[in-house]
Amino acid sequence: MTAVPTETLAAVLRSADGQFDVEKVAIDAPAANEVLVRVVAAGMCHTDSLARAIGNFPIVPGHEGAGVVEAIGSAVTSLRPGDHVVMSFDSCGICAACHSGRPYHCAEFELLNFGNRRAAAHLADGKGVANRWFGQSSFAGYALAGERNAVKIPDHVDLRLAGPLGCGIMTGAGSVMNVMQLRSGDSIAVFGAGAVGLAAVMAAKLSGAGEIVAVDIHENRRALALELGADRVVDPAAGDELAVQVVGNGAPFDFSLDTTARAEVMSAATEVIGRPGLAVLVGAGFEPLTLAPASLAGKAVAYAYLGHANPQVFLPRLISLWQRGMFPFDRLVTSFPLADINQAEVASAAGSAIKPVLMMEGQ
Ligand SMILES: [Zn+2]
Ligand SMILES: [Zn+2]
Repeated sequence: MTAVPTETLAAVLRSADGQFDVEKVAIDAPAANEVLVRVVAAGMCHTDSLARAIGNFPIVPGHEGAGVVEAIGSAVTSLRPGDHVVMSFDSCGICAACHSGRPYHCAEFELLNFGNRRAAAHLADGKGVANRWFGQSSFAGYALAGERNAVKIPDHVDLRLAGPLGCGIMTGAGSVMNVMQLRSGDSIAVFGAGAVGLAAVMAAKLSGAGEIVAVDIHENRRALALELGADRVVDPAAGDELAVQVVGNGAPFDFSLDTTARAEVMSAATEVIGRPGLAVLVGAGFEPLTLAPASLAGKAVAYAYLGHANPQVFLPRLISLWQRGMFPFDRLVTSFPLADINQAEVASAAGSAIKPVLMMEGQ
């Protein structure tokens, strides 16, 4: 186990509206239940922007890291140096939800993933940097993860691509496969064809869905949705009321998924489903949603974290589907060197990069 701090480059955020500074930090040796991971690449997810709103500065965000275990804490038993891992969200392991295999409902979820102020990394001047964002802070050449949230993957899997499985891709696929438990022939409307929405489209396709409709304001994303399994796409700006456009002349949908967190879109997601139907909301947002109770007759609406996935179980399944060509999420990836993280964030917000992935090697 490494006894001295590990020096590496990391993307440090110092204010709500500032840019990332890519600079040297020193990372502590892993605590008893932690592993030190040499990060190969880390996906950028919209949830990373919540770090700006939460304000635990300075902080290293990043929560879709993939890499190689370099050192392990004294209590770690399931991982060893050299193991390849994808890092996912953190959970406590001792609450009722964790004990029952539902870490996404962990009683400590918000604290561990958004609010952990532990500063096990230090700037050049010695000042602490919060580096347990989602139990990893993987916008860095090295990251400390918990044994619980580092998922061992086969050595042959491409670590330059696998990171997004840890959050965004898992959320989209899990929403379909775990939350909806979509069955062959069921129909689904997906609002927002970013990484989460397109993962849902792919998961619906491989689950044998009936009609799949994808909605997005960006032409490039609509085109990709069609390639990845959507039967029809809708441009919200095209004219009619959104729900009317989505349903068209067909029957209401069995399921809908909102990834946008915009009130009018979430409302449309509840309108397009029939009875019984389930609308799943996953977008990270705080815009109030107003619904008339009678409009929900016979319907269900759920806000679901992380596709109700237990990463230690679900990520190996997604990797198996990916490796067999049934879940080509790597088509969503655009790579950037860590040094270009600010450009990656702009490209993500503009919609030109669906899933930016930051490459650490050579930094
Ligand atoms: Zn827990
Ligand atoms: Zn995320």
